[in-house]
Amino acid sequence: MSRFRIGNGYDIHRLVEGRPLILGGVQLEHSLGLDGHSDADVLTHAIMDAMLGALSLGDIGHYFPPTDPQWKGADSLQLLAQVHQLIRDRGWSIGNLDSVVVAEQPKLKPHIAAMRDRLASVLGLEPDQIGIKATTNEKLGPTGREEGICAYAVALLVRD
Ligand code: MG
Repeated sequence: MSRFRIGNGYDIHRLVEGRPLILGGVQLEHSLGLDGHSDADVLTHAIMDAMLGALSLGDIGHYFPPTDPQWKGADSLQLLAQVHQLIRDRGWSIGNLDSVVVAEQPKLKPHIAAMRDRLASVLGLEPDQIGIKATTNEKLGPTGREEGICAYAVALLVRD
């Protein structure tokens, strides 16, 4: 059996008024925030799905259904810690994560180090095991029109 497993994740949430904008566990100053049942941290959600996907464990909707009032307003970092425990319990560790956040605004670059630190501390990793890149969508499509923000992630897991 392989010592390595790889998974990928994707998520998108709508931008609306009156919600905080939280990405990678970091709250950013912006006139709009992401709508969702939890805190709608689209980056953390994509990372969780990548981790679950690597072990064919389904997706976050299965573990934290949006119909369950328990997860209303949930801090996605706490959900991430639970997903991490799930893979640890099965004898796997994270080798590294990589991700892309697609947003026209705000500028994410100044906040990427803080996001990596935040995610690394929750997962017990070094920040250099967590890649986060930011790009715009060149004003194309729903993310380009600032109707939402999406994120893609991959996770490489290593057997203990
Ligand atoms: Mg989500």
